[in-house]
Amino acid sequence: MNRAYDVIVIGSGFGGSLTGLILSRLGYRVAILDRRSHPRFAIGESSTPLADQTLHRLAERFHFPWLSPLSRYGTARCISDIVVGAKRGFSYFQHQPDAPFDAGQKHQHELLVAASSTTKTADTHWHRGSVDAWFASHLEAHQVDLFENCHLETIDLDARHRWLLSCTVQDAPIQFQSHFVIDATGRRGLLLDHLNIPRRSNTLRTRTRAIYGHFADVTPWHQLLDPALCDDHPFPCDQAAVHHLIDEGWMWQLGFDHGVTSCGIVFAGDDGPSEKPLQHWNSVVARYPTLQQQFASSRLVAPRDGLVSSGRLQSIADRCAGDHWLCLPATAGFVDPLHSTGIAHTVTAIESIADMFSAGPTSTVAPAALQRYNDCLLDEIRWVDRLVSTCYAARVDFELFVVATMLYFAAATYSEQTGDPASPKTSFLGADNKSLRQAIDSVADRIHGAVYDKPTPAVVRDLTAYAVQTIEPFNQVGLFAPPVNHMYSSTAADGS
Ligand SMILES: Cc1cc2nc3c(=O)[nH]c(=O)nc-3n(C[C@H](O)[C@H](O)[C@H](O)COP(=O)(O)OP(=O)(O)OC[C@H]3O[C@@H](n4cnc5c(N)ncnc54)[C@H](O)[C@@H]3O)c2cc1C
Repeated sequence: MNRAYDVIVIGSGFGGSLTGLILSRLGYRVAILDRRSHPRFAIGESSTPLADQTLHRLAERFHFPWLSPLSRYGTARCISDIVVGAKRGFSYFQHQPDAPFDAGQKHQHELLVAASSTTKTADTHWHRGSVDAWFASHLEAHQVDLFENCHLETIDLDARHRWLLSCTVQDAPIQFQSHFVIDATGRRGLLLDHLNIPRRSNTLRTRTRAIYGHFADVTPWHQLLDPALCDDHPFPCDQAAVHHLIDEGWMWQLGFDHGVTSCGIVFAGDDGPSEKPLQHWNSVVARYPTLQQQFASSRLVAPRDGLVSSGRLQSIADRCAGDHWLCLPATAGFVDPLHSTGIAHTVTAIESIADMFSAGPTSTVAPAALQRYNDCLLDEIRWVDRLVSTCYAARVDFELFVVATMLYFAAATYSEQTGDPASPKTSFLGADNKSLRQAIDSVADRIHGAVYDKPTPAVVRDLTAYAVQTIEPFNQVGLFAPPVNHMYSSTAADGS
């Protein structure tokens, strides 16, 4: 069988599906190919204000009334067929091995940063299996053909700039033709491999790997805290991207409304474990008594074949766009789950793709636009690497980690709150803003310099003062000056 399209998207995660839906709206004939079928387990579940703003804009611009509710927890929770969770912000808890968690009388060992002012306007944890299936369920109504269980054997670009893809779908061979191919296969990078495009992962500073899965019956963290010390938490600390900082790295916890929690341990350094993932997980949790208590009655519910062990997480391709092709961000490169940048970066890039293709199928996407997309996307990934690797370096001291984290919040909130929310951002996390980057770089350089020796409290104090002063022009939300130590209630993008 032969099928001809204007654009073929490989991969039907939410990124591939949303891209396909938009291109179809713009008049392109689109097919999406995926080697698996929905619903399936997927990771990467925590949205941010930037992700929500962008999603809302795309829903309005392309008249997808069904999509808009996903951009706020208050409305997302009413969408039948998907599972979500409330994310009021980011919570961080600093643990010591072999000792119960101690928040400190003045929150010395915890940090809460609000990203929204109410649960209704909060960001959302997406249970990706259900959310991706929901996106895919809208394809047919928008004339996008989805081919699941589709195994790609060859991909070639012929002399007439026509892509030829040979596939088997349920043992039946199909030949696809298209003018343009988009690689939305996430970390797999199928098209990149076919084009022999190398990855330059060693040029990224962040070096981590992860073990992760979905658990039921994880005790909510606030139940293990002293209630007297939670009175001034700006939001319920579990309604967040919860970070438990441990010697090995950190653990994320993202709670969904149906009682399942996405949990993962991210290990600083990329040496592989000698133990099996579950043994390794258990041995790490056992070092931290309060985490052990939290997981005492828990059980793994997904994926069915056990915890996933990732290998090194970081990658960056040499190129991410070229002659009649491009990749989505998760394929072009990936840094780390820290700061939850993935969903926001993906939808930001999709908005640029929509602009590039807006002239419709009768014209071709200009090579100069593809070159710009390539250069911006790779630069943005390196910018995320800069922000994330500085936090990893700063982990030696919680106060220093807080300073490094504020650099990310400065970039994120400045980018969220400048300009018209109805207009697209020019780049992700202000990557194209030279003065913002210079300011953050200069603080980051000092942090990297300070961690060669264990920094003294005086060094951390001086560095904090320097950060306050340097970040000041970009600090629109009171970073470094919370109403209560480490408790930020007013960084919200929703106008609080
Ligand atoms: C450990 C981890 C934690 C993360 N946590 C967060 C987070 O908290 N917040 C956040 O915003 N982001 C997070 N991310 C990033 C997030 O997962 C990605 O940004 C997001 O998944 C990108 O979506 P996508 O649709 O582009 O790709 P994916 O979700 O990766 O989807 C790729 C699709 O391609 C298909 N595919 C793969 N190979 C082939 C093939 N050979 N042929 C055909 N189809 C194929 C797959 O079946 C899948 O459907 C995390 C990532 C990792 C690795």
